[in-house]
Amino acid sequence: MPAPGDKGVPVPGLQLVSFPGDRGAPVYELQRQLATAGFDPGPADGVYGPRTRQAVVQLQQICRLAADGIAGPNTLKALAFHLPHRPEPGRRLSPHFKEQEFACRCCGLVRVNLYLVDMLEQLRERLGGRPVVITSGYRCPEHNRIVGGAKQSQHLLGNAVDIEVDGLVPGEVATAAGQVGFLGVGLYPTFAHVDVRQSGPARWTETR
Ligand SMILES: [Zn+2]
Ligand SMILES: [Zn+2]
Repeated sequence: MPAPGDKGVPVPGLQLVSFPGDRGAPVYELQRQLATAGFDPGPADGVYGPRTRQAVVQLQQICRLAADGIAGPNTLKALAFHLPHRPEPGRRLSPHFKEQEFACRCCGLVRVNLYLVDMLEQLRERLGGRPVVITSGYRCPEHNRIVGGAKQSQHLLGNAVDIEVDGLVPGEVATAAGQVGFLGVGLYPTFAHVDVRQSGPARWTETR
């Protein structure tokens, strides 16, 4: 088990708010984190230009935040959780979900779209407050390959979870997930997959 900080993994913490037009170290750090999270802020030059702003807008859209292009506190928080990092033991992301529940089953790192957590709370409420058990959350590339996940799997991005709910069959969970507005819903024999993908709705059923 690697120690915290291995692989240069950041831990979500305090960052400085930046605005388009800003220059300096906080902008450089913002650009570095955006690039690590898979966005294209342009060269890491410490200048908050149009490309960096566009990358911030993309992040905001994925996390369903107001797309104002400003790296404010909520945006920086969403970005921090959107980077693979080591979870803080016991830290709650919402009233009923802990960060660790979303961690990769092989390496323990986590990456999670906080909008996914909001949606899971809505699903839990829709199911009458029944606990939603996450059986697979973030998957690092190695783990995704080992479990035979899709190359573009939403699990790689922290946008997806596989879930089970005691007392309900997966079909009932999947139906409720569609009703609360999950864009991606997959039905499997023993679990339901839900995700907050960017592109249009996707529904599928796997029988094995
Ligand atoms: Zn892993
Ligand atoms: Zn899945």
